[in-house]
Amino acid sequence: PKGRVPFIAGNWKMNLDHLQAIAFVQKLAWTLKDANHDFRDVEVAVFPPFTDLRSVQTLISADKLELKFGGQDVSQHESGAYTGEISGAFLAALEAEYVIIGHSERRQYHGESDEIVAAKVAAALKHGLVPVICVGETAEDLEKYGPSAVPVSQLKAALNGAAPDANIVVAYEPVWAIGSGQAATPEQAQQVAGALRALLGEVLSAEAAEATRILYGGSVKANNIAGFLRETDVDGALVGGASLDLKEFSSIAQFR
Ligand code: PEP
Repeated sequence: PKGRVPFIAGNWKMNLDHLQAIAFVQKLAWTLKDANHDFRDVEVAVFPPFTDLRSVQTLISADKLELKFGGQDVSQHESGAYTGEISGAFLAALEAEYVIIGHSERRQYHGESDEIVAAKVAAALKHGLVPVICVGETAEDLEKYGPSAVPVSQLKAALNGAAPDANIVVAYEPVWAIGSGQAATPEQAQQVAGALRALLGEVLSAEAAEATRILYGGSVKANNIAGFLRETDVDGALVGGASLDLKEFSSIAQFR
């Protein structure tokens, strides 16, 4: 009804080595197949650690799986003397379709500023990757500025320089809801998602605002996913903890 294909994305964070990743993706594919999952109805993607990506790509392409995958971060640089970093070109060469950018753990533990996030978004777009741009307020921000101000300003900064038809996904992840077991309510998620969509209309285009998927993230589980998807401006979820539980994650993908 919203004209946007719902998107369920699993952020594995620093979990599962490449052997565990192969086993997990195989089982996930079987479980969804058994459930007659139609990937045209609900797109599903996993975001494994970098060292798993080649294995996951090989499995997905050999078995012609409809699962998508992406990286959890990307360098803002093209190549060269940046020890430990991974370029957008490398991810594109691995046929990754997506890349998470600006996750609150990167902002918090790796000092990623709005400027760095914007540079990473530009790098992803340059290589044809779809950035999953994460924004969200801390509990302190919420008290100080209200619900939408911080996420809206983070998204505005992240899109600095992006083309009006940029192909992106936005993930609204209140920091206080991540890994806390205390999800936002669907109404709270909708309020911010609505504000983010309005911003997309201002800084990109009306078409991009209409087409862009806005995900909610933060303690999403099989038993609360449906409520979020019922909201007008929420088009899916970025799932952390529950994406590592096969049964839980497949149920989230099967939210109907
Ligand atoms: C996340 O870190 O992207 C996330 C949403 O985590 P969790 O689902 O565990 O709250």
